[in-house]
Amino acid sequence: MSSIPTDTILVAGIEPESITDGPGVRFVVFTQGCPHHCRGCHNPETHAFSGRGTPMTVDELYARIVADPLVTGVTFSGGEPLLHAGPLSRLAKKCHIDGKNVMVYTGYLYEKIREAANPDWDALLAETDILIDGPYVEAERSLAIHFRGSRNQRVFFLSERGKEYKDRF
Ligand code: SF4
Repeated sequence: MSSIPTDTILVAGIEPESITDGPGVRFVVFTQGCPHHCRGCHNPETHAFSGRGTPMTVDELYARIVADPLVTGVTFSGGEPLLHAGPLSRLAKKCHIDGKNVMVYTGYLYEKIREAANPDWDALLAETDILIDGPYVEAERSLAIHFRGSRNQRVFFLSERGKEYKDRF
């Protein structure tokens, strides 16, 4: 991944008007590459770090997001979005300026992300309103919880904007 330009994200797929990946109508970016290998993962095609995915620039994705007036938020899912944290943080910043909220799924635990003191990870957290953390655990699978696959996954409302959606989870 170090061979792709810094403002380019390796994208596994896009869902331009999702109502299942967070509150409201959301533009979802599924990133390519995941180190977690959760048993029962629904997106195994996103695991590979090479040979798959489409490189897209921050500006390219942003143009598509703002072109749709129905979209109220963006979601970064995977794959593992933190592996693309630098360019995703810049995309998130542009979306915030445009009034959209930002939600991120990660297989890492929130405490580990903070402890890592990785500037790109911190930059993405600073632009994240709602964070869903932790791997998918098949034994904890539940259809009764909103916007999460398994009960171990936690929701963090990291901004005032994010807290507005507490009753949706
Ligand atoms: S973190 Fe997500 S994409 Fe990665 S293996 Fe787990 S469920 Fe699949």
